[in-house]
Amino acid sequence: MSDIIQLLPDHIANQIAAGEVVQRPASVVKELIENSIDAGATKIELLVKDGGKTLVQVVDNGCGMTEGDARMCFERHATSKIKAADDLFKLRTKGFRGEALASIAAIAHVDLKTKQVGEELGTAVIIEGSKVIEQKPSACVEGTSIAVKNLFYNVPARRNFLGSDITEYRKVLDEFLRIALVHPNLTLSFKHNNELIYQLHPQNLRQRLVNIYGKPYNERLVAVEEETDIVKITGFISKPEFARSKSDQSFLFVNDRFFKDRYFHHAIMAAYDGIIPQSKYPPYFLYFSVPTESIDVNVHPTKTEIKFEENQAIYAIIRSAIKQALGKFNVAPTLDFEHESTFDVPPLKEGESIQVPQIKVNPDYNPFNSEKKSYSGSASSGGSGGSYTIQSKGFSSIQPNKEEWEDEPIKKETQVEVVASSMNDEVEIEKKKPVQINNKYILTSVKNGFLLIDQYRAHCRVLFEKFLGGSEEKSTVNSQKLLFTESFEIDSTEKPFWSELLPHLNENGFELSLKGKEIMIDAVPVDAKDENPVKLVQSVLDQFKESEQLEEVDLQKRIALSLAASLAIKGGKRLGVDEMEFLIDALFASEMPQISPHGKKIIETFTLDEITKRFN
Ligand code: ADP
Ligand code: MG
Repeated sequence: MSDIIQLLPDHIANQIAAGEVVQRPASVVKELIENSIDAGATKIELLVKDGGKTLVQVVDNGCGMTEGDARMCFERHATSKIKAADDLFKLRTKGFRGEALASIAAIAHVDLKTKQVGEELGTAVIIEGSKVIEQKPSACVEGTSIAVKNLFYNVPARRNFLGSDITEYRKVLDEFLRIALVHPNLTLSFKHNNELIYQLHPQNLRQRLVNIYGKPYNERLVAVEEETDIVKITGFISKPEFARSKSDQSFLFVNDRFFKDRYFHHAIMAAYDGIIPQSKYPPYFLYFSVPTESIDVNVHPTKTEIKFEENQAIYAIIRSAIKQALGKFNVAPTLDFEHESTFDVPPLKEGESIQVPQIKVNPDYNPFNSEKKSYSGSASSGGSGGSYTIQSKGFSSIQPNKEEWEDEPIKKETQVEVVASSMNDEVEIEKKKPVQINNKYILTSVKNGFLLIDQYRAHCRVLFEKFLGGSEEKSTVNSQKLLFTESFEIDSTEKPFWSELLPHLNENGFELSLKGKEIMIDAVPVDAKDENPVKLVQSVLDQFKESEQLEEVDLQKRIALSLAASLAIKGGKRLGVDEMEFLIDALFASEMPQISPHGKKIIETFTLDEITKRFN
């Protein structure tokens, strides 16, 4: 029998290796920028199109490559950074495997232009699917430009696996931030679809954080500094009151590399224990320096986990360093303005007392008095859908209870188990007046007991179906012109979200436009006419971003969900009897009265039997 084992041709080996190094456009961004930094660049430009699917280009002013290296760099295991295995333990560069460019060139169209400092001519190389198409001298500028186009053009299965442009954009942005946060001394810019997202100049870390996250961060951050024999920790943490409901501003770096570590994250959270509410996360940006021999970064090219020799000791050091930093800021505000600002709240003067804030509510106010209810079926019509319109003009505004609706994690609706759907048929609301409990739940009696309805979730369900409804229902979304146009400035990173969102919001009662960096608000849906328009529009965006995690949910649903979650009356809002009756009617006319669009229970049932048992 003849031998059957063969060596794989290089281009196939590269394609297989590419699967490990390049998962998505963001991985290309990481590899290219890291190469630029290794090449000693002080200025790096990142240009991205369509979330990186069409183009990722990095232009640097680093050392450039010779003609020979410009060709060699695309070979597998071609690296200028290590020569012997021993070098692995003294790594000072970001790359060392010599795999990135070979992998990228195997699954994309790559244009390289590079020129060494002081040389007259540079080199241009075009390479597609590992095949060199062209190599010629080029009169380019000093440094290197690598453009990676049409990622995975020859691996359709992987291309299809990519998320939407916005999803990929978000990952690219994260990658860019990880680099920007660790190299504040570099000039960095990031353009997406020709839109300038960031232009960062050399600055110190605090300035960079403020530049990236906005001015308020100057007041929010506390410096951390700790030096021991095994680790040096520097960086910033957030004051407890600025903890967020998302943990997206948690950054750990070791020897200038971003990494993730649940154990260390736990150490940080433990330091905040008792001073921030549960399920809140303080932003943190912490930088560790350890001897290069004491960590193993050689785990996986794209993995962000790093093994530390002195894991447990470092845990204890992190915890105490943070406690100390927080303690300093609480007990002994320093006058060192470089480091820390002083208290925001002036101490009380003698004889002064704190006034409890009061909210005035007119309990007799009934915004529905002039409204006609066009849903007139009996509450038991259940899933039949019935025709109804909700013109809940003005659930008068009380500051929304943020806690209540921020903690509604969005779940895929299709995963939700529909409980007790048979209930639809049995529910017959008795014509007794509903009662509101704790300004949050509505108690209503039914023939065989009573129901407790979560008012926010109920209204969310009703609005969700309305926004998802056909044009007939949409036309019932009336808008209310504002007396004066309101506007607010957006964060440039959010521009792609706004561009996607605005046309949809304008179909749903808003009148919004994007002028430069500002969103102009001319009208809002009548349902929300008493809300603060700026907060409302921002909340829709927050909800929309949140729903981003559900890639499989279609855009219409995400928009409807964002609108519903933002416009629904919040827990904490007092409702009149008519409002409650109206909401109950609308809820039972909806398709899924039991389950909120976030997948949460709307109704709790208490049967007479259960009630009777309790008295036994
Ligand atoms: P690694 O970074 O692990 O060495 P890469 O495949 O990323 O492997 O790059 C291969 C080699 O190409 C690098 O070692 C470096 O010599 C060269 N190179 C890559 N990008 C640049 C750049 N922007 N400027 C100068 N040289 C570069
Ligand atoms: Mg590299």
